[in-house]
Amino acid sequence: MSVPSVLPPGSTIGILGGGQLGRMIAMAAARLGYRCIVYSPEATSPAAEVSAGHVRGGYDDEAALIRFAEAVDVVTYEFENVPEQAVQICARLKPVRPEARAIHFAQHRLREKAFFARAGIGTTRHEPVRGTAELAAATLLPGILKTCTEGYDGKGQARVSSRDELAAAWEKFGRRECILEALVDFRCEISAIVARGLDGATRCFPIGLNAHRDGILRTTTVPAGLAPGILATAERFGVQLAESLDLVGLVALEMFVAPDGSVLANEMAPRPHNSGHWTIDACATSQFEQLVRAICGLPLGAVDILAPSRMENLIGAEVGDWRRYLADPTARLHLYGKGHARLGRKMGHVTFVMPPSSARPRT
Ligand code: AMP
Repeated sequence: MSVPSVLPPGSTIGILGGGQLGRMIAMAAARLGYRCIVYSPEATSPAAEVSAGHVRGGYDDEAALIRFAEAVDVVTYEFENVPEQAVQICARLKPVRPEARAIHFAQHRLREKAFFARAGIGTTRHEPVRGTAELAAATLLPGILKTCTEGYDGKGQARVSSRDELAAAWEKFGRRECILEALVDFRCEISAIVARGLDGATRCFPIGLNAHRDGILRTTTVPAGLAPGILATAERFGVQLAESLDLVGLVALEMFVAPDGSVLANEMAPRPHNSGHWTIDACATSQFEQLVRAICGLPLGAVDILAPSRMENLIGAEVGDWRRYLADPTARLHLYGKGHARLGRKMGHVTFVMPPSSARPRT
């Protein structure tokens, strides 16, 4: 497979997955003159609606995946649980960026934790619970039991404070491979989003301060307003992660700030991240454009904050408030075009950008 290192505007980007992240990648790509083709099983999807093409197929449909890969110049993915097999099929025909290695680690919490350790990234104390012997030997209580695979937005995890609760949670998860993490009494949650180009150059977006409820991200605030030492450690961990993965593309690293100020990695995602949505309206380059630049071999963009901002997710019925946000001059509204405002479903987000007058220091 001979691949030119730079894919100029006019080239076609293939996106595995049809969700809102794919939608925002396609919109950023279009702005730079690229076309996108989306691969997803659904007949319609937020990403396909704004893309030049859509190949419909399951992630195990080899023929459809080959048709998709043949039609594009480079492949990326917008969710880290894309089956590795589907990525491998595409990789036989076209470069997949980030490479399959990134999802191999991101898809399995124990593998991910081992990778953090190898990359010199501090993480939460944890132990495996893969069978009855490990269950009986587990000591990290109170803790959080998480399934090793397929958990996201707080799904597949349970807080446990006693051995009985631990055993019950493990039964509830169908005795699947799990990880027990010590409960961190964190001061706050933060994330680093790092881009790495084909030439190995890295850029870390300003660290975001994240608030979650019921395991789902609610808000991200930038600047995070934390001590410079904490921000520098978070940024260093993000860059170490991108370099250790030999990544081309984007990776997000979610972290806890412990009461003593130490930074502990929670999980990573080798794709644009919900906590980076503020970059569309308040950063010199958005995370979505940065991904397009990285995977197409273009120089990475500047990551300066243009204005202090706060992103709020619109979850479920909250999307019904769209009129209110349109009337607010500080609000930038983004709706994902999803039909059903199901409980817990991310329907859109709004970024509140501080007007220049209030950002100016008072005299
Ligand atoms: P996760 O799916 O691992 O990102 O977890 C979702 C959310 O649950 C995190 O953003 C935290 O708010 C909380 N959480 C996860 N792991 C821990 C932990 N070890 N200690 C305390 N809170 C946690």
